[in-house]
Amino acid sequence: MVELKDILIKELSSEFVCNVCMDYLFDHDNFHTSKAILQCSNGCVHCLKCWTKHFETSKKNCLTCREPIESIESLSKNIILKKQFGNKKIQCPNICFEKSSEKDEVNGCKEVIKIEDCFSHLSKCNHRYISCTMEGCTETFRALDLDKHLEKCGFASIDCEHCEMKIKKFAVKEHIDNDCSKTIIKCKYSDGGCKAEFKREDADNHIKDVDHKEFIQNIIDQHKEKHEVIKRKYEDTENRLVTAEKKLAEFDQIAKKLKINCENLTSRIDSTEKYQCNWVIYNYSEKFRTYPNGAMFASPAFWLGSYKFNCELYLNGYKDYSDFLSIFLFKKNHPESSVQARYSFELVNRNPSKSVKYSNSSTFDKDLGYGFGSFRYYKKVEINEESGFVVDNKIIFNIVVDISPPTSSNVLISQ
Ligand SMILES: [Zn+2]
Ligand SMILES: [Zn+2]
Ligand SMILES: [Zn+2]
Ligand SMILES: [Zn+2]
Ligand SMILES: [Zn+2]
Ligand SMILES: [Zn+2]
Ligand SMILES: [Zn+2]
Repeated sequence: MVELKDILIKELSSEFVCNVCMDYLFDHDNFHTSKAILQCSNGCVHCLKCWTKHFETSKKNCLTCREPIESIESLSKNIILKKQFGNKKIQCPNICFEKSSEKDEVNGCKEVIKIEDCFSHLSKCNHRYISCTMEGCTETFRALDLDKHLEKCGFASIDCEHCEMKIKKFAVKEHIDNDCSKTIIKCKYSDGGCKAEFKREDADNHIKDVDHKEFIQNIIDQHKEKHEVIKRKYEDTENRLVTAEKKLAEFDQIAKKLKINCENLTSRIDSTEKYQCNWVIYNYSEKFRTYPNGAMFASPAFWLGSYKFNCELYLNGYKDYSDFLSIFLFKKNHPESSVQARYSFELVNRNPSKSVKYSNSSTFDKDLGYGFGSFRYYKKVEINEESGFVVDNKIIFNIVVDISPPTSSNVLISQ
């Protein structure tokens, strides 16, 4: 809502302010219809609200000078102050948007008027907000936009281009499509081949005058055909559904079998406690040259349950043990737990009775990076073709690792 202070050209001086409520002496939002300004016989002026409130408490004196006053009716009117007030200049309240104190600098009323002329200006101001007069329309707009609004207002009526009936704009399409008696329409049997077109009001006569049997039969045939197509599609879909269901059942069976297999495999893997393999090392002579003292050559990893192991080989020994081939077993995972393992390395000889096997039992501690074995199991000079350990330039280690809990039969004892 626009208030007086929002549109005053110059702020009013203190003589226009009520010294009780410190607001203007005039009705703030209804200043343009302002009632009389009342004063006591000593000339104390107050706003109407303050005077009214004061006398409601049945006091019988002036708010300021305490002079006895019988009632609000015995106050006199300050005509001069009212006249001065009426001469003050304001912007037309229609400078603001509707029901707002925000100014509309583009479309608002730019007129500056006297307060006493405000009421009559508002009634003819082109920028005042009005409501659309079309029944059903709830839009409001500035008076000067009336024509623009009516052009697009769906509740405004226009003449039907066919029958000249007055129709509300939003209903015109509906009228022409379904009701208008003068609109040209096709025969309702046009799908069956009747090419006639006529005003809607002549439809009944056309049906009477022309024999439509053939057209109706055509339509029935078309429907039968469509029905057949739909039926075939339906049957086809049903067949495919049955096939899909069968396949699904087959897949289900397969999945069940796979699941069982998988569970078996998992339990077998988890329960693997003994591992045996031949570690075949090809191109022994080349490797012997390329892995000098201290250079390590690792086997692929293998698993016992959830434990991962591998073997590591120093073909030319390690540091002081340069006369030996050194081999070790390492635990490669689970740094958080230790495991007891019995293991053996057997360097295979062409003559099995000459194969050399070393067995041991160690606790593979929590930490990784520490393997078990020996720097001195095999003397390098003894590993060659003549001795039978190198065959076709390859050597073979038979490796056995067992982490099953020790029983009396599988414990290794070294005295
Ligand atoms: Zn007051
Ligand atoms: Zn007041
Ligand atoms: Zn007084
Ligand atoms: Zn105006
Ligand atoms: Zn409207
Ligand atoms: Zn019409
Ligand atoms: Zn027809």
